[in-house]
Amino acid sequence: MDGLVFDIKRGVTKDGPGLRTSVFLKGCPLRCAWCHNPESQSPDIERSVTTGELCGRRMTVDEVMEEVRRDAVFYKPSGGGLTITGGEPLAQPEFTAALARAALDEGIAVAIDTSGFAPWSAFEALLDILPGRPGSSALLFLYDLKCMDSERHLALTGVDNAPILDNLRRLDAAGARLWIRCPLVPGLNDSDADLAALRGFIAGLRRVERTDPLPYHPLGLEKYAAFGKTPRFARREGATAEDIARYSAGLANAQ
Ligand code: SF4
Repeated sequence: MDGLVFDIKRGVTKDGPGLRTSVFLKGCPLRCAWCHNPESQSPDIERSVTTGELCGRRMTVDEVMEEVRRDAVFYKPSGGGLTITGGEPLAQPEFTAALARAALDEGIAVAIDTSGFAPWSAFEALLDILPGRPGSSALLFLYDLKCMDSERHLALTGVDNAPILDNLRRLDAAGARLWIRCPLVPGLNDSDADLAALRGFIAGLRRVERTDPLPYHPLGLEKYAAFGKTPRFARREGATAEDIARYSAGLANAQ
């Protein structure tokens, strides 16, 4: 079993609790206007036109686990573990499930960082791993909610939000651990009405442990040219401190 990986980062303190190793899988069905990982979108190995370096390599589950094990001693004391991210990890559902299973078998907690745009069967395959393993708390979903308005969601990301919302409701009903993350981009999806709609939807779920805004930053803009792409949203300034305070207040107590 192998998958297409474009990066592995150790010592990550975001993307879930504690100290983590984040494995970035290549390929994503969305095209978010603000994406700061444009190299993650194509499901193929690409060559940077500026550095000539290849982006993406096929790795087996065992090869990835060798990297993940290097920080195993830190995971339990810190409450951390493996985060499978991307791109969209559920665009490679068999590999993601096999990697999650391998980590859980070794007692390493797993977080899946997902856009939610995947067939329900991909989520089900992950939930099916848990029985017989220590604690359902060992599997956490970091689930992005980008915009409740379906037409604007389609315009901003290239996909309908209906399956994303449906999968989230089903995960919630299945008792999955959920952290909701809301990428918020000045002028695109961050109005007070947008925040209220997000808060209202999240308030209808039972299993959400926390909700975090992900304020826009421009750090990925330089990468577009390297992969022959043009950013659709090229603002050079990140979200302001005022924006960030408003996002936090707007999403507070959603869960
Ligand atoms: S879901 Fe994430 S990786 Fe995919 S296009 Fe959007 S921001 Fe980029």
